[in-house]
Amino acid sequence: MDIKVVKFGGSSLAAAEHFRRVAAIVKADPSRRYVVASAPGKRNSGDVKVTDMLYQCYEMAHNREDITDFFARIAERYNSIIRDLGLDFDIRGELDYIKNAILHHSGRDFAASRGEYLNSLILAKYLGFAFIDAESVIYFHENGTFDEEHTNEAMREELASRSYAVIPGFYGVMPNGTIKTFSRGGSDITGSIVARAAEASLYENWTDVSGFLMADPRVVKNPRPIRTVTYRELRELSYMGATVLHEDAIFPVRNAGIPINIRNTNEPEAPGTMIVATAAEYDTQSVITGIAGKKGLSVITIEKDMMNAEIGFGRRVLEVLEDYDVSFEHLPSGVDTMSVVVATAAIEGRREKILAAISRSVRPDSVVVEDGLALLAVVGRGMVKSKGTAARVFDAISNAGVNIRMIDQGSSELNIIVGIEENDLGAAENAIYREFIKD
Ligand code: ASP
Repeated sequence: MDIKVVKFGGSSLAAAEHFRRVAAIVKADPSRRYVVASAPGKRNSGDVKVTDMLYQCYEMAHNREDITDFFARIAERYNSIIRDLGLDFDIRGELDYIKNAILHHSGRDFAASRGEYLNSLILAKYLGFAFIDAESVIYFHENGTFDEEHTNEAMREELASRSYAVIPGFYGVMPNGTIKTFSRGGSDITGSIVARAAEASLYENWTDVSGFLMADPRVVKNPRPIRTVTYRELRELSYMGATVLHEDAIFPVRNAGIPINIRNTNEPEAPGTMIVATAAEYDTQSVITGIAGKKGLSVITIEKDMMNAEIGFGRRVLEVLEDYDVSFEHLPSGVDTMSVVVATAAIEGRREKILAAISRSVRPDSVVVEDGLALLAVVGRGMVKSKGTAARVFDAISNAGVNIRMIDQGSSELNIIVGIEENDLGAAENAIYREFIKD
């Protein structure tokens, strides 16, 4: 039988009513055998995620403040779920242990990880599934990086002895036995790791949206959902800021060739978005897959006659940025000009020093920095096959009265990136969307 690994995000497990929905989804398909759970998320817009409460509780204990009332609020999040589900389950011992550990200066990661730990205990009980603690199957190296092979071995062995199980997301264990978490949103990574170890046919990632949309809904009205996207397209779109899935969640399943299906717990019939290695069997409905924009960029423009003949010019410019720990986003160049696109926030407070260092290093004719740049990426595997896509993109932008400051097409023909004024981003994004998507 096929195995599916299903991960539920915090907003899908925030209260008892969500647990019921989750159970219905899991039980509807017996191949949904391994469930990865997040900590309870927000129940409404004014609510606080349990993970954030745990971080705060840790800080309070650290500052020797009294955590009694605050911890009781965290405990109540779980107790109300248990009560509302009518479960016969006593977690008092667990809660006391955790509170004590936080008071006695357990690590910050330990505190945060208890959010998924407790939620998974409850979900396992509710589903009648085994509970596998992530600390016995997910390992980190001494230097804090994820120990992929050790984890895969241990996880595979453990899963082989359990037909149905719940595994808490977000954390694992260091060689010295202390708990360590992934970065925020890291339960997505756990799901991917479990899917790889289980040799799953599918990794379902259940959240509160019906997959990826072709454009930012705050910019374009009612954008269409993306039915299928390749891993590479997704990398391009998420780099530009489309976030539904943790970036690092892609790698374990990508290498194993397991597709990810983003689904909506509140709309379980919707097909969501399929993330696949190659989309040969899933034909594109349109030339472009998605549009994404990124604001808050600055461009450093360096001019020097005969720059192209000067060996090591580019390297020396980039070395200066490296010295200041600034990474560059894009590097469009002319014959005697070089432009480096960087995040404005990364140069804030030291732009004069950086410009002076570049001047000393390469003695340019001029070096200036301009703020207020936005990049707009038009991404689509369908571009390779269709002619004239770039022309359509540029026409749409100029018909919207927007000036293009920079153009960059990846040689893989997977994307076209244009640099425009930040204030023009909305108009340009809408114009491109309308050009390619005709209702
Ligand atoms: N609960 C953790 C967070 O809020 C991890 C996750 O939900 O994926 O970041």
